[in-house]
Amino acid sequence: MSAPTSVPDPGTTVSAELFARATASIPGGVNSPVRAFSAVGGTPRFIAEASGCTLVDVDGNRYVDLVCSWGPMILGHAHPAVVEAVREAAVGGLSFGAPTEAEIALAEEIVTRVAPVERVRLVNSGTEATMSAVRLARGFTGRSKIVKFAGCYHGHVDALLADAGSGVATLGLPTSPGVTGAAAHDTLVLPYNDLNAVAAAFELHGDDIAAVITEAAPGNMGAITPQPGFNAGLRELTARHDTLLIMDEVMTGFRVSAAGYYGLDPVEADLFTFGKVMSGGLPAAAFGGRADVMDHLAPVGPVYQAGTLSGNPVAMAAGLATLRHATDDVYAELDANSQRLQDLLGDALTGAGVRHRVQSAGNLFSVFFLPDDADPGVPITDYAAVKATQTWRFAPFFHALLDSGVYAPPSAFEAWFTSTALDDDAFATIADALPAAAAAAAAASGPEAAR
Ligand SMILES: *Cc1c(COP(=O)(O)O)cnc(C)c1O
Repeated sequence: MSAPTSVPDPGTTVSAELFARATASIPGGVNSPVRAFSAVGGTPRFIAEASGCTLVDVDGNRYVDLVCSWGPMILGHAHPAVVEAVREAAVGGLSFGAPTEAEIALAEEIVTRVAPVERVRLVNSGTEATMSAVRLARGFTGRSKIVKFAGCYHGHVDALLADAGSGVATLGLPTSPGVTGAAAHDTLVLPYNDLNAVAAAFELHGDDIAAVITEAAPGNMGAITPQPGFNAGLRELTARHDTLLIMDEVMTGFRVSAAGYYGLDPVEADLFTFGKVMSGGLPAAAFGGRADVMDHLAPVGPVYQAGTLSGNPVAMAAGLATLRHATDDVYAELDANSQRLQDLLGDALTGAGVRHRVQSAGNLFSVFFLPDDADPGVPITDYAAVKATQTWRFAPFFHALLDSGVYAPPSAFEAWFTSTALDDDAFATIADALPAAAAAAAAASGPEAAR
């Protein structure tokens, strides 16, 4: 995919200056690659502050936020109850390196919401959660191989970076240099939604497979729905071979329902991973599951895992305040806002004659620009189909939205995120921005035309 040349737009002078300054001290100017706008070109907006559904950049531009920090901000930015909880916690001390009651409260909240989770270990990022869950699965089973699915992203864990979606897909990397053959050797990558491929892998390697890890519903190659029976089929196959099933709910957890994707598709995995929403925008994440498996962790068991800042009191306060506010009403509102946004997007693209599919998994969704011969009624079910979409329509679509004050995810391979803070004014801004954006997508020329 070719990025447009990066001429700073009018009104992005300060962001452009900061980006130039950032590249001198930070690789690529950013601390997570997708923030650099590599896939869409142009100047990444440096954010000065945010409140509700509105981001304000350093030049004073305001945007309706449809990224929500990649998921955590279900209640919108700077929600008063969350900010107050953080303030109170901070005043009481930032970190102790000793246990606190808030950690128990957050663990209990997770255990209460997700039935198969009996024990929880708190960590600092989703990456750490999946890395630790994989180590625990290997330690528990005494086996080495891991099955993952192409296009599923589980953080930047060495063994899980093979054919990972998200930023890796955006940058077109099959896997990352620096991941050794040894680290990738025990990872089997299979096509998503293909139970026959999983069954075949078990035929061949059954006794060596420690775990199958999957996104409960993939959101990192765009939103993909597990086909009916897929997650249940994984449960059945893993159980038959004494392999652990790890449901990665870092993105879906506590966003698509009170119990995450488990609430929509109640498949009892052995281990679950959580992040994003559960820490309300501060750095915390978790993995949890069956007590007998989790009790293999140090200090009760032999599998080592630790963290200086794990269970940090300020992060606990943000997570607890967020989850305690995330009532059934909040989930109904998130679903409604997601549907309203999907309808607006679909109508605008249909109006502009762009062949597309707005596809959802719970209230996560993505916009796919379909190949010319594709049937919009047919679900996109795997990474190969995602890669066959006309991603080159995305950059002009994205920039037209951004120019009109709508901040969509800056990559065709990402899900869109809503919050309860989206109000009628925000939807009006989006509705006003869409016709020009859909026209820009329609007018985009692909790699063929450019030749
Ligand atoms: C975001 C994400 C991760 C990684 O979480 P980080 O906190 O960014 O390390 C892992 N798995 C899934 C499904 C994610 O969406």
